[in-house]
Amino acid sequence: TVKLAGKQSYAFYQPEMASESQERVRLEADLRQALAEGQFELWYQPKINIRDNCLMGVEALIRWRHPERGMIQPDLFISTAERVGMIKEIGEWVFATACTQLREWNNMGLKLSMAVNISGDHFIAANFCNFIVKTIELHQLRFQDIEIEITESLSRDPEEHRLICHELRSRGVRIAIDDFGTGYSSLSVLGNLEVDTLKIDKSFIDGVASEPASQLMVRAIIDLALGLGYDIVAEGVESADQLEVLRERGCPYIQGYYFSRPVEASKMPMLFATDWSLARVA
Ligand code: C2E
Ligand code: MG
Ligand code: MG
Ligand code: MG
Repeated sequence: TVKLAGKQSYAFYQPEMASESQERVRLEADLRQALAEGQFELWYQPKINIRDNCLMGVEALIRWRHPERGMIQPDLFISTAERVGMIKEIGEWVFATACTQLREWNNMGLKLSMAVNISGDHFIAANFCNFIVKTIELHQLRFQDIEIEITESLSRDPEEHRLICHELRSRGVRIAIDDFGTGYSSLSVLGNLEVDTLKIDKSFIDGVASEPASQLMVRAIIDLALGLGYDIVAEGVESADQLEVLRERGCPYIQGYYFSRPVEASKMPMLFATDWSLARVA
């Protein structure tokens, strides 16, 4: 049988599969159908500014409302989409949909930033910058309200990667490194990244209130990042204790279940009006 990568696998298709090529064809057809029939949805997780206790933006997170399997989380199909060459099309749908949504929120008077996850293969695909710039312009959004989240990766071409970051940033689009601390950036390049924001990975946050080593690491990352002029977001904050340590250490932005899980777009006006100094929402 086909070797699939752990929990990343699209496992429920495995038993019937006779060969890898057959499997790929089926997965690709399924993802294509999902796109064509509107089975993908974006959910949005608030990003809270804990200095002024406001909702400053959201991260768009894809879900697949599968007609038979119910709601499928991205860890179960994004790597598959990358493998079968569908990630560019899905990523373009995600980006355009997020822009449409932000336009709608702006029209309602909600001032928010929108963060969108983009896979490495899509980021370095031909015409990526052009697509991003055109789509933002089409929806008459402000470039600085859009942030693209990429993970640190052993890119096939780090120079090309850097150029794309530079080109986007020169237009005002923001770039964030997602899951920061789990990838490949060495300390020697940290001072000179073509990015605006570092998102501290949840694995560091998990122990921030309980394990001295995690706490030390998080403190050092925050000091280093802020000192070097990057914005910093803590991901996966689940408890008041974690929040307190992060607040004390000067981390300005927080995402995590403590404040809110990802929610449907319709919930955003209510969340936008929430007093986040007291809130734990969903
Ligand atoms: P990510 O970009 O690092 O997103 C954060 C993930 O952690 C999300 O899971 C979010 O729901 C979850 N999370 C947030 N706060 C907490 C918390 O306090 N506790 C716990 N346990 N989890 C928390 P989700 O939505 O399942 O997405 C998983 C990953 O799938 C994302 O990680 C991202 O790498 C990828 N992904 C999601 N949407 C997209 C997309 O539109 N395009 C691409 N290329 N990748 C996406
Ligand atoms: Mg992300
Ligand atoms: Mg992350
Ligand atoms: Mg992640």
